[in-house]
Amino acid sequence: MKRSWTCLAEEVCRSCGGECCRDAHPPISPQRRSILLSIGCPDTVFEDAGYTRLKCRPGGMCVMCRDGRCAIHDHKPETCVSGPFTFDRKDGMIAIYVKKEEICPLVRYLKEDPGLYREQMRVAVDHIRRLFSDLPPGEMEIVLSIPEPATDLVTVLPLEGGAP
Ligand code: SF4
Ligand code: SF4
Repeated sequence: MKRSWTCLAEEVCRSCGGECCRDAHPPISPQRRSILLSIGCPDTVFEDAGYTRLKCRPGGMCVMCRDGRCAIHDHKPETCVSGPFTFDRKDGMIAIYVKKEEICPLVRYLKEDPGLYREQMRVAVDHIRRLFSDLPPGEMEIVLSIPEPATDLVTVLPLEGGAP
């Protein structure tokens, strides 16, 4: 039987040690902030860097990473749900990228399973579109200016629309 995305991600991410949660600083929309406050996250986990984001602890790990796991897994920010896919904007469209295998071991397993790959990309596009919709435009401009090295372009899609 094929593994589910959740089982696969748990297994691979555990052995990776949650490297993408180091210096992650995921952007937090007003809607996401309300959700996180409503489930008991203290306001002190957020910081303003021109956009609202989650803090990292000294040493660099995301403030929400506890014992190698995400403490807000069911409510985590859009960029975290979307991994290992990431994004940029190109001519008013969303460019979807996937991280290179050497920085994210999960990518190899995804590429070996086209069905899982398509499903995770669909989830990623959905969440990235939501982030474009929810994040104040000035904050999104700052997020888009952050370089994202070691990625490969996958596709370019409209800002709104159906499943890829
Ligand atoms: S870098 Fe990839 S394998 Fe490692 S924790 Fe992040 S998503 Fe998982
Ligand atoms: S919110 Fe969770 S998944 Fe996202 S960077 Fe922090 S610990 Fe990692």
